[in-house]
Amino acid sequence: MEEAKRYTKDGKVADYIPELGNANPDDLSIAINYPDGRCISAGDIDKNITLQSISKVITLALVLMERGFRYVFERVGMEPTGDPFNSIAKLETMAPAKPLNPMINAGALVVTHMLKGDSVEDRFNRLLGFIRELAGGPSVGFSEKVARSEFESAHLNRALCYFLKQHNIITEDVEILLDLYTKQCAVEMNCLDLARIGMIFAMDGVDPLNGKRIMPEDVARICKTFMVTCGMYNASGEFAIKIGIPAKSGVSGGIMGAVPGKFGIGIFGPALDEKGNSVAGLKLLELLSKNYRLSMF
Ligand code: GLN
Repeated sequence: MEEAKRYTKDGKVADYIPELGNANPDDLSIAINYPDGRCISAGDIDKNITLQSISKVITLALVLMERGFRYVFERVGMEPTGDPFNSIAKLETMAPAKPLNPMINAGALVVTHMLKGDSVEDRFNRLLGFIRELAGGPSVGFSEKVARSEFESAHLNRALCYFLKQHNIITEDVEILLDLYTKQCAVEMNCLDLARIGMIFAMDGVDPLNGKRIMPEDVARICKTFMVTCGMYNASGEFAIKIGIPAKSGVSGGIMGAVPGKFGIGIFGPALDEKGNSVAGLKLLELLSKNYRLSMF
């Protein structure tokens, strides 16, 4: 922690979602959750993080369970892009205009569009229930303020939605989809909860404390594979080489890691590098991976 904390000053908090701009760039915290229930942590662990892009993996898991693999992958691809997470460029060159993967915004919007339910409230509450099950407790909440702040400023995401609607990949009202998507991104928890969710993915979808299966093994495997190939946006290749564990980051500065068969990691460090990943969080993971030989490769 001490070594990694020095790197917080090399990054900047995201402010394209105005409410995220209020985060303290010096914050850094980490939790590791083991399958036997032990949890070790350090840093500002009482701070809450909104999931932002980390939510994309969890929504994907739920949608794969609700809709099946075929339905989902007819509408979103499996390939990394090498472009920033909010890029529209590849959509224009693809025919059909299907987003390349569920971890970029275009793909995530399509996945959120697939959440079943009668209303935004109904769809969001089911997602929140699933997230609470993964986190193992009711402490998981949602920040109305962050959701509203993003909803009011999500011009680029609106543009992606309208493009996808033009090509019939999205069929619902764009404002309704953005309402649901921005709520999903504003789901809030501390890094201990995040570590526990990572642990469930690490353990192939089973809660090891009570043996309950929360998602099929195949769903957990697909999610972890996307975390390796696309989880850190267009820094995923370097991350795989330097760190080598399935992980997903968000512009709030959160990173969720799932070390297969071993443990889950939750990190919060809002100072970001130019690709939108937590600078000190990446450093922490690099040190952990080297010192404890965590790379799966
Ligand atoms: N809510 C954010 C957005 O859509 C999530 C992006 C991210 O965390 N990279 O812009």
